[in-house]
Amino acid sequence: MALLQISEPGQTPEPHQRKRAVGIDLGTTNSLVASVRSGNADTLPDHQGEHILPSVVHYGEQGVTVGQQAEQHMISDALDTIVSVKRLMGRGLHDLSTLGGVMPYRFVESESQMPLIETRRGAVSPVEVSAEILRSLAVRATETLGGELDGAVITVPAYFDESQRQATKDAAKLAGLNVYRLLNEPTAAAVAYGLDQGGEGLIAVYDLGGGTFDISILRLQKGVFEVLATGGDTALGGDDFDKAVAGWMLAQAGVNESTLTNEQHRQIMLEGRRAKEALTDHESVDVSFNGWSGVLTTQPFNALADELIDRTLRAFKRALRDAGFKAKDIEAVVMVGGSTRMPRVRSRIADFAKKQPLTSIDPDRVVAVGAALQADVLAGNKSGDDMLLLDVIPLSLGLETMGGLMEKVVHRNTTIPVARAQEFTTYKDGQTAMAINVFQGERELIKDNRSLARFELRGIPALPAGGAKIRVTFQVDADGLLGVSAEEMSTGVKSSIQVKPSYGLTDDEIARMLKDSYSHAVDDRNSRRLLEQQVEADRLLEALVAAMQADGEALLNEEEYRSVLADMEQLKATRQGDDADAITREIERVSKATEEFAARRMNQGIRKALSGHSIDDFEES
Ligand code: ADP
Ligand code: MG
Repeated sequence: MALLQISEPGQTPEPHQRKRAVGIDLGTTNSLVASVRSGNADTLPDHQGEHILPSVVHYGEQGVTVGQQAEQHMISDALDTIVSVKRLMGRGLHDLSTLGGVMPYRFVESESQMPLIETRRGAVSPVEVSAEILRSLAVRATETLGGELDGAVITVPAYFDESQRQATKDAAKLAGLNVYRLLNEPTAAAVAYGLDQGGEGLIAVYDLGGGTFDISILRLQKGVFEVLATGGDTALGGDDFDKAVAGWMLAQAGVNESTLTNEQHRQIMLEGRRAKEALTDHESVDVSFNGWSGVLTTQPFNALADELIDRTLRAFKRALRDAGFKAKDIEAVVMVGGSTRMPRVRSRIADFAKKQPLTSIDPDRVVAVGAALQADVLAGNKSGDDMLLLDVIPLSLGLETMGGLMEKVVHRNTTIPVARAQEFTTYKDGQTAMAINVFQGERELIKDNRSLARFELRGIPALPAGGAKIRVTFQVDADGLLGVSAEEMSTGVKSSIQVKPSYGLTDDEIARMLKDSYSHAVDDRNSRRLLEQQVEADRLLEALVAAMQADGEALLNEEEYRSVLADMEQLKATRQGDDADAITREIERVSKATEEFAARRMNQGIRKALSGHSIDDFEES
């Protein structure tokens, strides 16, 4: 049995012995890459910790850039910054007219009927542009997984025809990827939720992305998905919600849209998107455009949204009818696409399908996650039973988090070598150091597990609680040697580990620790949940104390002030008890009750920031 030892951080383990297989969601607006690591499918972040790669390619003087970097040129260098190239995949020049006026590029004809886009770096085909996006994701995956990729599953819309699918495969080949297969996006989403494990039934996949809406009706029988019907609207998506908000702003400001310059047009669309996304988490948002400013609240926004949502519901009904079913026949609705974060979209779908849609997996990542699961199977990695015991980690490795809880980073029985990173954040406002306590064991509380090492990360920038992003990476090499490193993502501050000698466990000790964890499993889970809720309650209480001290008297009338104090008292009382569910409910109640106070504080903060400046000061920024 391999003994776990602590090594200096920063040592890379030997290349992985499993096949490196990835799933790629090549989206119209955004693209992602995911992989199954340690039995867990998740998307892979870039160096900045971003999982999402905007599907934007910039052909600049200095070279080609992709993603966030390319996005920066969308306004200043629009003609050389290619967005939404997916719409052009597998299309001929004659198809372009049907795509509407969304494509401002200089198209040129080519011998192959394929439209080429003129850029300062020469004419490029949509296949080449897509290949840039795929290459960027492949590089990210290669670096994260520590070696060349064996293969990829790439997702495409269910309605893609042969030439669109072929174009996608060509792009992958150009990017140097070995394509195991293309997978329909809705099927991937259903796989991500494990619906393929769950027998039979009718599944609807509702995908509202940036520029398109897709509805797919799938039937699952004996683990095989059949696409019964697809529908949707290739010119309806999140962008239209942005447009609706922009239109609302122009009307409020009394500005005629036809007087806007191209630049101003892009600007107001971006402001519309910002406002729309803010309304997903807030009841109101301050908006401004070209000297005008105002407030958009949920109600008028929902009214704007409803018209667009109605259109998706009509397509949904049509697809159901095509499939020969009714809304009541649906077993599950899977939500895909960033726009399904909008609470209004979720509630309207729940009303229509008479059941809560599945939203627990990030709607941006769900397709990539499903593709990764498929890729893992196709690579032949799913050999859970015949794993060699010597090649696995005998006991889980993790960290202490608030409340004395064990957060497992690398799970027991994970094949080695392995590298796993997880992000943590600060608990207190202005916290500049963090103690990293490394533990080994299966129990929920660290006091029941074994301490392996302890070190500190200092020099974290002082930010509000939850503001700093600290990535802790565990690496176990082929010999079972453990290295742990911590890095603050915005400043790049890294920790140096203080190595403590570790003593290997005997097989008997491991057996005992495992037995303990099984016999205490239920107890442990309950105390973990209780502790988590107590920490959550403390966090809320601390925030409220600070808010009341700072702004309570200024922003609340007497009655409101007393009511917040009473809420805090009650939360404190419930928190002392041992009923985790009651604490959860109380946290929700108090959060809701103090939402208005929080909103006022935010508005005040913005007003303060603006006071003493004229609007002109901000226009350039
Ligand atoms: P695509 O499939 O076209 O690549 P995505 O699924 O990535 O697109 O969705 C992008 C859309 O999701 C954008 O219109 C974006 O504004 C929207 N979106 C992202 N986050 C939110 C949010 N929190 N609230 C509302 N809309 C959001
Ligand atoms: Mg998408």
